[in-house]
Amino acid sequence: MRDTLDFLLNDWIGLGSLLQRPRFADHSPETFASVLDTCERIAREKYAPFNRLVDTEEPRFDGEKVILPQATHEAWKAYAESGMLAAAQDYEIGGMQLPYTVEAAANAFFAKAAVSIGTGMLTTGNANLLMKHGTEAQRKVFALAEFGGRWSGTMCLSEPQAGSSLSDVATRAVPDGSDFDADPLGPRYRLRGNKMWISAGEHELTENIIHLVLAKIPAPDGKAIPGTRGISLFIVPKKLVDAEGRLTGERNDVALAGLNHKCGWRGTTNTLLNFGEGKFRPGGQPGAVGYLVGQPGQGLRCMFHMMNEARIGVGLAATMLGYAGYEASLDYARQRPQGRSIRPEGKDPSKPQIPIIEHADVKRMLLAQKAYAEGALALELYCARLVDELHTGDDDSVLTSGLTAAREAGLLLEVLTPIAKSWPSEWCLEANSLAIQVLGGYGYTRDFPVEQYWRDNRLNMIHEGTHGIQALDLLGRKVVMDGGAGLKLLAARIGATIERAGPLAGLAAPAAQLAAALQKLGAATRAAWATGVPEEALANATPYLQAFGHMVLAWIWLDVALAAGKAGEPQRQGKLSALRYFFAYELPKIDAWLAVVVSREPVCREMQDGWF
Ligand SMILES: Cc1cc2nc3c(=O)[nH]c(=O)nc-3n(C[C@H](O)[C@H](O)[C@H](O)COP(=O)(O)OP(=O)(O)OC[C@H]3O[C@@H](n4cnc5c(N)ncnc54)[C@H](O)[C@@H]3O)c2cc1C
Repeated sequence: MRDTLDFLLNDWIGLGSLLQRPRFADHSPETFASVLDTCERIAREKYAPFNRLVDTEEPRFDGEKVILPQATHEAWKAYAESGMLAAAQDYEIGGMQLPYTVEAAANAFFAKAAVSIGTGMLTTGNANLLMKHGTEAQRKVFALAEFGGRWSGTMCLSEPQAGSSLSDVATRAVPDGSDFDADPLGPRYRLRGNKMWISAGEHELTENIIHLVLAKIPAPDGKAIPGTRGISLFIVPKKLVDAEGRLTGERNDVALAGLNHKCGWRGTTNTLLNFGEGKFRPGGQPGAVGYLVGQPGQGLRCMFHMMNEARIGVGLAATMLGYAGYEASLDYARQRPQGRSIRPEGKDPSKPQIPIIEHADVKRMLLAQKAYAEGALALELYCARLVDELHTGDDDSVLTSGLTAAREAGLLLEVLTPIAKSWPSEWCLEANSLAIQVLGGYGYTRDFPVEQYWRDNRLNMIHEGTHGIQALDLLGRKVVMDGGAGLKLLAARIGATIERAGPLAGLAAPAAQLAAALQKLGAATRAAWATGVPEEALANATPYLQAFGHMVLAWIWLDVALAAGKAGEPQRQGKLSALRYFFAYELPKIDAWLAVVVSREPVCREMQDGWF
């Protein structure tokens, strides 16, 4: 995987060009490589050996504390000491000023080694959000302690009755006393409500846990403002702290109501948390003390600020699980003798069996995994590079699109983020299923790692916006927003790749096939919205998402193939074969997916409850 990662970073997306940006001027190809080397080593030594252990030794609650394996404590310590929690932050606050692309690539090693031990993605996201939307005191007290690894963070959005529909959150926040506005840590409220599915919501890995909680501040008539407009964001520390960030010794009113027992991803605690139920009484009263972040009613807007990176992070985790299964099954297929050649020489049963990698059908399963996992890795790095463009791109000069580089990157990310999150979640999960298939019966046992990869990966289509919600976002919002500006930009980039590949022997046919796919997708987008009735257009949003994703991945593969000459011989052949596989076996699937979009097939929306 490292050779592919290096090839994609250096020879494909041109990571080196970022070194010309003032923010990254102190870096060099060597410093980037050394960050990758360090993370690869920590992942190998502190994460990979314990992947099975954290799966079997699930977190447990002893009535007072949540117990995690010692290995998890050591992995967290090593990760925090590496400085990666503050990878992208300014030097002045102890950061490394690394591009997001390098941070994401380095974190990929941990996802592959033991995804559920985790790297503090939530902690970094939580602290990044505070750097953007918090007050100076909130940044200093909470964010800095998180970047240093002394405290960790959570994101508390979901509730038992409000998962996809966050406008229905029922947690309430009321001002805490007449001086609530005078607290140095921000306007102080008392929160009451239940938060469900909170990852890393309770543990002893860090001295304190900083929850970022969505809650509604009732209007003066005591009623909650309906919809997302009424949602605000609060910092709710597990243990209370003073204005200097010292623990006061008082426990906040946040109580663990229970641990969820998951299909996979078992190394991370997943919790139901009760806020303000009165188990603890800070200041002698029940109610969880929380400090407002940003303005009232702006909670979701603050959260969405982090969305691109959070979703790329989920897509990358799904990708690396796909990669892990691919490598494990490839290794197995090379060693497992079973059956004989289908050619005449295989007719002689006295001859030894051949390794299963010699069978075309096993190669099909391995090629599919390679096409999914390496393609997804390329997609995630491409999107990560867009995040860097968004943050550090040239804001003065205008590109041929008439937009600045940063604006162009922002629009492209709007359209590509649902794909970056959902495509690896679906297809690298399929890769894991194929990995199990390659191992046959052994793959179905816990003696081999592939079943765990599948279980771990099954989460990714569910969290950070389910598959169905991503599809609605893509077809309902992203491809039509700003008059379809994001889609047009994407089409222009795809067109540029087609133009480069068209004249080249071996790439002309896929280039023509991709041009046709792009044209079909544009026509389907228009057909979906031809009547302007959302119910008709969006009933088939998921097949649209699938077709869109496959078209994007076909583009990514064609673009990667253009750089394959720099990869060295066996790698080059591997990339070109994965491209051929993708265009022969995968891209044609879009016709079936788009057919129902174009006809606005009504069977799903017309089906009635009683007919099932
Ligand atoms: C292991 C794990 C970790 C998590 N970590 C966190 C965390 O740290 N913080 C946090 O806040 N949350 C977290 N979540 C919650 C996660 O984000 C939610 O599970 C997710 O948003 C879906 O909500 P739900 O489970 O209530 O399902 P629902 O929203 O009830 O969805 C059920 C099904 O209905 C579909 N559906 C729902 N609404 C619509 C609609 N309008 N149109 C079409 N289809 C629809 C969905 O696509 C889905 O298939 C985690 C979940 C899990 C399982």
